Amino acid sequence: MNWLRLFNTESRSLEKVSPLDGKTIRLYTCGPTVYNFAHIGNFRTYIFEDLLRRTIKHFGMSIFQVMNLTDIDDKTLKGAIENGITLDEFTRPYKKAFFEDLAILGIERVEAYPEATAYIPAMIKLIQRLLEKGIAYSGADGSIYYAIRKFSTYGRLSHLNLEDLKVGASERIADEYDKENAADFVLWKAYDLERDGKIFWQSPFGPGRPGWHIECSAMAMDILGDSIDIHAGGVDNMFPHHENEIAQSEACSGHRFVKIWIHSEHLLVDHKKMSKSLGNFYTLRDLLQKGYTGRHVRFMLLSTHYRTQLNFTFQGMQAAVSSLERFDDFIERLSQVDEQTAHGKMGPLHNSASLIKEAYQKFNEALADDLNISLALAALFDLVRMVNTQIDQKEVSVHEAKEVLNFLRQIDQVLGIFFVGKDEEEIPIEIQELLRKREEARARKNWKLSDECRDLLQEQSYLIEDTLKGARLKKVHKL
Ligand code: AMP
Ligand code: ZN
Repeated sequence: MNWLRLFNTESRSLEKVSPLDGKTIRLYTCGPTVYNFAHIGNFRTYIFEDLLRRTIKHFGMSIFQVMNLTDIDDKTLKGAIENGITLDEFTRPYKKAFFEDLAILGIERVEAYPEATAYIPAMIKLIQRLLEKGIAYSGADGSIYYAIRKFSTYGRLSHLNLEDLKVGASERIADEYDKENAADFVLWKAYDLERDGKIFWQSPFGPGRPGWHIECSAMAMDILGDSIDIHAGGVDNMFPHHENEIAQSEACSGHRFVKIWIHSEHLLVDHKKMSKSLGNFYTLRDLLQKGYTGRHVRFMLLSTHYRTQLNFTFQGMQAAVSSLERFDDFIERLSQVDEQTAHGKMGPLHNSASLIKEAYQKFNEALADDLNISLALAALFDLVRMVNTQIDQKEVSVHEAKEVLNFLRQIDQVLGIFFVGKDEEEIPIEIQELLRKREEARARKNWKLSDECRDLLQEQSYLIEDTLKGARLKKVHKL
């Protein structure tokens, strides 16, 4: 039995994953702010969370996962106001695009996608409780703030020292006359005509809108309960967002909010933070336009361990394409094993079965060890290399080839890279037709026509590879 262990940011140690209620893992993941298309950095985090989800299921646990959609924040309001449309009109296309992108990347649908706009009453309730307990207070501007000094373990997740925060805060206190302490954070932002246009919600504390942190506390507790198993997000969410979630939720409920906190490191581009002004900002759609597929992007994002920074480059993207090609070629080869290539070897499995067993064991051990994807993939590459050699030597029976294929299908429930989304990569009919024409021309020694076909294929980013089994097309990606 493999026990899944994860690195808990709070305890800074590996901890065994087992459901608090003995039945279902309750996982909360901070979702997208829907003011724009999600970028590949966001998807690095969502792919890591998808691997986490699939691994939990792989180890036989059931899961209930929530991913919120942040449709109320400074950026969504600004977008709606600048475009002169309602908040819903502004965010709806980005919500739709987000789900399209998830499907392209083979990210599994989770059990609930709550939207902040639908949870205002739950947020108001939490804020009222915090006011009653004397932990929240009304600032000079009518906004409601959380007094962090009232929560004695504030800073315990990000390992920040409350005293440091207070010192830092007192230096800035002169500009922050609305709050008692500059490090306090907002729970309810009082309405401001100039800033908020026509967008506000009514509340017992006057018109306004919730702060971002209370949104996640309310959605998490409303759907998953006071105590949840795992809370995940990118490392930038750790402070202050997750720290504030703990302070809000625990002060309200009196229970431990989260058992295991897990954070993924950032994706950088050419070792720099992605930004539009540096010209190194990519959405999934940008990469698709360059000819990569969802599977390529998924593999690239998946194959670096989540606690290591991932430096995105187009060379790295090409390496992902090549790795997938190796797997694809292998799968193709396995499906072509027939009685002749196998020399009629029909006997019971011996070699492949033990190779599969070994690969499976290594794969499981690696994933159980804080999702060590590099080792998990290495076990599969070893298997590919060894079985390929056996196929070369005609030692693999049809039955064995099928067993290996079944094994890869099983593993793909966790990885989602071998079979998912492959159909979309099929070569378009017109391109296949051009290749056929070129083959015909060559057979008739019509070199002019065959060259013309080759050039036309190249214009459409397809290179011809002549192999022993005939010509094959290879898609080239634009950098
Ligand atoms: P946001 O839409 O900014 O609230 O971010 C949604 C999720 O993406 C959060 O979990 C962030 O931590 C994560 N995220 C944002 N930028 C990056 C990045 N460059 N690399 C990895 N994760 C990121
Ligand atoms: Zn959140």
